[in-house]
Amino acid sequence: MIAARHLTRRFGPRTAVDDVTFEVGRSEIVALLGPNGAGKTTTLRMLAGLIAPTSGSVAIGGVQLTRANGAALRMQIGFLTEAPGLWDRLTVRENLRVYAGLYGLADADARIDRVLDLFAIADRANARTVELSKGTRQKAALARTLLHDPTILLLDEPTSGLDPEVTRSVRMLLDERRAAGCSILVSTHNLDEAERLADRVAVLDERLVAIDDPAALRARLTTGRTIVRVAGDPSAYLPAIRSIVGPGVDVAVERSSLALQLPHPELQTPAIVAALVAAGAQILEVRAEMPALEDVYVHLMGADGGGA
Ligand code: ATP
Repeated sequence: MIAARHLTRRFGPRTAVDDVTFEVGRSEIVALLGPNGAGKTTTLRMLAGLIAPTSGSVAIGGVQLTRANGAALRMQIGFLTEAPGLWDRLTVRENLRVYAGLYGLADADARIDRVLDLFAIADRANARTVELSKGTRQKAALARTLLHDPTILLLDEPTSGLDPEVTRSVRMLLDERRAAGCSILVSTHNLDEAERLADRVAVLDERLVAIDDPAALRARLTTGRTIVRVAGDPSAYLPAIRSIVGPGVDVAVERSSLALQLPHPELQTPAIVAALVAAGAQILEVRAEMPALEDVYVHLMGADGGGA
């Protein structure tokens, strides 16, 4: 478990991160989502113990990170930085050996073989990193991040610039690490990725704007409309709907659906469905309309910008 407690970081007059509190539990993936300059990298660097917060603290497994215990606690963390941190002129294996040395790992070669296998890059072990494609380089960087079996993974944009296949393999690996009990924090600009990867999404814009699971974030902005998709022309069923909901309810025809602004959807939906069936409708789907996560994000950012 890793926790940020009231983390604030200023660079001169500029506040990069302002009073951010959240935690990533065991077997949990949290996405740190925010626009450029939101403070994602700064937050990750503070959590990794690479820079000190101006105020606030970091706790790892319940123990507060200090200068004295920093080196020992950092052994529990695997940090993937934006710049992958590999020496171009060294081979993949040589790079990993350097890191194994820095971590003081006894069984370096066995571990290196294991992480190379994990990312299916054993055949590139003796290639200099300068020769690697971006995807393979990122895999080597991730292999480096996992070399010492960390229980906490802090990953700065791990899939940025990768093709869908490599992205998918990274995602599967993170799922697997989560199942093994790791706490994983992944920064991203990408809403789809945040939604697909993470158990919870922390929206950062200097301050923590929101943190919740993706569905709950979406539900915050629920449109309150009930969508009924039918076979054939939906407008044929307008009289049946009107007979139930009366004139005060906004009913729109949208492509193959009827969109109803119901004041009490749970109470009204059964009667509407019954009336539609009685009118001969074939109902394909009934659902509460949810906004795209992107709309929620824009909404949250707008609210935040207004308040800042
Ligand atoms: P991006 O998505 O573009 O990588 P980010 O969310 O990771 O952005 P940070 O890199 O944490 O954002 O930067 C947050 C703010 O802090 C920015 O305004 C940046 O210019 C500033 N900043 C970060 N590091 C430093 C530094 N070492 N010195 C001065 N300012 C810094």
